[in-house]
Amino acid sequence: MPRIPVKVVEWSDVVAWAKRLAEVIKASGWRPDVVVAIARGGYVPARLLCDFLGISDLLSIQVVHWPGAAQVAEKAYIKYGLGQADLAGKNVLVMDDIVDTGDSVLLAKEAVEKCCSPKAVKTAALQVITSATKFMPDYYAVEVKEWYWYQYPWTALEDMESFILRILREEKRPLWSLDDLSAKFVEYYGEELLEKRYTYFRLALERLKENGLLKPHDCGGVQCLKQNL
Ligand code: AMP
Repeated sequence: MPRIPVKVVEWSDVVAWAKRLAEVIKASGWRPDVVVAIARGGYVPARLLCDFLGISDLLSIQVVHWPGAAQVAEKAYIKYGLGQADLAGKNVLVMDDIVDTGDSVLLAKEAVEKCCSPKAVKTAALQVITSATKFMPDYYAVEVKEWYWYQYPWTALEDMESFILRILREEKRPLWSLDDLSAKFVEYYGEELLEKRYTYFRLALERLKENGLLKPHDCGGVQCLKQNL
């Protein structure tokens, strides 16, 4: 078992789930006039949902709760609100990619209710982790029972960077060959992630080099990486 269980989500999964979610919402008989995406994870799902439901009004609110991949902050907070948006008389759907603890979606829902006088606010997500959440969204496409970090396509590079940094911080080892780092990555996060997102693994290494956190180093005639945290 890897230290952090990760599942890779493909674009085709996302589209299928957004379509399914639109069907669930339609079947409920309630129709949103406006979708509010919770940035940043809710952006792509909310845009897809607008397409499947034929909705043109899409706004956004930014909530911060998980500053790094699989690293939760103590409290969720609103970084950017909806400002002066007038939602009087509107049915509003607040949308995120995944409901984990439920804090982000609940905070966003309450903020929309307070700021903008909507007729009604409901919540939706592609996925909900029912064993973790304190708050159930009104609509969802997939129920997840066991906790995983879902590696969505829109966080592939930043998740990789964050995951590699975690290894570097925890292992405190100065020099890494690519093979050693790959093996440690598999130990931490499982084989599937490295296999399916290998291009992003390499891109993340490049970015860590650009930012000076890794430096190319000569390990007795073989290229390796020196960590510089
Ligand atoms: P929460 O406030 O705990 O419900 O977390 C919601 C936000 O954090 C979501 O918008 C996701 O972008 C991110 N997130 C939280 N948990 C996960 C997870 N298990 N897998 C992927 N992303 C997550």
